[in-house]
Amino acid sequence: MVEPYQLTAWEAADLLARKELSSRELTESVLQRIERTEPVIHAYQTVLRDSALAAADAIDESRAHGEAPSRYAGVPLALKDNMCMQGSPTTCSSRMLESFVPPYDATVVQKCMAAGLIPVGKTNMDEFAMGSSTENSAFGRTMNPWDLDRVPGGSSGGSTAAVSADETILSLGSDTGGSIRQPAAFCSVTGLKPTYGRVSRYGLVAFASSLDQIGPITKDVRDAALLLQIISGVDSMDSTSVNAPVPDYPAALTGEIKGLRIGVPKEYFPAGLNAEIRGSVEKAVQLLKEQGAEVVELSLPKTDYAIATYYLICTAEASSNLARYEGVVYGRRGASQDNILEMYMSTRSEGFGPEVKRRIMLGTYVLSAGFFEAYYRRAQKVRTLFRQEFEQAFKQVDVIMCPATPSPPFKAGEKTDDPLEMYLSDVFTAPLNMAGLPGLVVPGGFSASGLPIGVQFIGPVFGEEKILNAGYAYQQLTDHHRQKPPLVVPS
Ligand code: GLN
Repeated sequence: MVEPYQLTAWEAADLLARKELSSRELTESVLQRIERTEPVIHAYQTVLRDSALAAADAIDESRAHGEAPSRYAGVPLALKDNMCMQGSPTTCSSRMLESFVPPYDATVVQKCMAAGLIPVGKTNMDEFAMGSSTENSAFGRTMNPWDLDRVPGGSSGGSTAAVSADETILSLGSDTGGSIRQPAAFCSVTGLKPTYGRVSRYGLVAFASSLDQIGPITKDVRDAALLLQIISGVDSMDSTSVNAPVPDYPAALTGEIKGLRIGVPKEYFPAGLNAEIRGSVEKAVQLLKEQGAEVVELSLPKTDYAIATYYLICTAEASSNLARYEGVVYGRRGASQDNILEMYMSTRSEGFGPEVKRRIMLGTYVLSAGFFEAYYRRAQKVRTLFRQEFEQAFKQVDVIMCPATPSPPFKAGEKTDDPLEMYLSDVFTAPLNMAGLPGLVVPGGFSASGLPIGVQFIGPVFGEEKILNAGYAYQQLTDHHRQKPPLVVPS
């Protein structure tokens, strides 16, 4: 028998509409699953048990009167712990914000609650979203449900592990250089980074503002489409949100891909690429070709500069954004307070972990007088070249297919002593952030040793419908997304 916590949102919505399931039953089932699974996985930073049950009861009540706020009202949702929710701790998995309770809701939180979704908790992450393994959390690592000795990816590793281990129905993550897509690949779930400006960043704790974007992490493409529908749209509180009509994303899922032109960029299949990842992605391309898609070989030579450019831009913006944590306005205040300089210094040395400090130092250097032109300005110019290169590519193709990560999930501790090695995890994801493009990662199968492999679809600006439909067609032909980790939790 299927337990309610195993449902997708669209399956749950049908049962809720037919009154075969109540939101109270669904939410209780998820909360109980969280309780049993958390000792093994540690996906959550905070579980919002009481408010979730109260919200579920309110939705059941409104549905009984025929007044449910949406089709998906009553479905549980997990939020990455860098999205503000009024009255609930928002720590960014940092000592700096350990006791920060926001006085307002992020726009995405507001929209999800207006649609009747039920926030069941805040998920663990790399501190301030800096990392690719969720090992940079100040509150302990998250386990990969497919192999507990391995990382779930990062920085949204709590959100992807929660979806994979059925500890929520829906989830939201954020993606600055790959933080939705890389952990989605590592945990075998569906993750979408929308076009920059599609979703409001108001109330998302800033890491690198010109790259950050919030997006859905779900059990399948259909759920990703419906959650994107709920969170998209212009917002007067975020001047970088774009005033473009929000299409009916679920309606775009026709599964029809005859004539779809799929670009395959050779730079995303380098000689050293893990052979099983290459095999899975090539098989996915072949499968869509058999359904009538047309495959076009592409070259995106700027890919070589992705890591260098991304780490100049994101550290510069992080150094500037994180200047606000000085012990006066937000969060923690350091122990040493003899004078203001000491107070700043003790606050920042006690509050930030080693990776955050490294990024602030790199970014401050990159922006400093004398180096600004050589590093930051030049990186911005290279960023324009990335955008142009993709624009050219999208004159020839509708979507691009490629790997999400260069390797399957790695062992915990394997890359923590070598930041550069960790940074290389982002090579296939960061270019999209620099160009502002949407990217979807779906489960693409498993290695011989049972480790998840992701397949990435890249679209042009506001091409979410195209990549969602291509991913949907792929999920109709495969069942990787229905596989569950062999997780043993106490019953
Ligand atoms: N892994 C990348 C980094 O460490 C991406 C992080 C993100 O997307 N938030 O910067």
